[in-house]
Amino acid sequence: MGDMATFTCRVCRHEQTIYWGGGFFTYNRNNLADRIRDPELSRDVRLILQQEDAVVERVVKMAYYCPLCHIWYNFLDFSIITRGIVHTPRYRCEKCHQRNILRPVPFENYIDSPWECEKCRSCNEKMTSVGHWD
Ligand SMILES: [Zn+2]
Ligand SMILES: [Zn+2]
Repeated sequence: MGDMATFTCRVCRHEQTIYWGGGFFTYNRNNLADRIRDPELSRDVRLILQQEDAVVERVVKMAYYCPLCHIWYNFLDFSIITRGIVHTPRYRCEKCHQRNILRPVPFENYIDSPWECEKCRSCNEKMTSVGHWD
């Protein structure tokens, strides 16, 4: 349930589809850590979820963008509450390896950031189609 945008490279025709939003009951405190590819972040989330009062408040698919590398990522955005503290994820750019540089891009703003093809690395004028998923 949400929005999606597909970028198509004008050079090599590679497509990258980014999803926003989420379905209810897909993720919970038992499986959230398993769904995070970044091993360091996954471990941190697992530790947080072991706290007795941990509540997973919100989990959605979100676009993340590296302004240095122009790469788009599709990661889970979430908040976990423990003792009044809200934990949100900090993902790392897989190219420049910086952890605090990725910024979430709401669907409404997808057009504002340039897209670099993740396959041939050409940063060309992208073709985009948008739609809904469920
Ligand atoms: Zn980067
Ligand atoms: Zn390409």
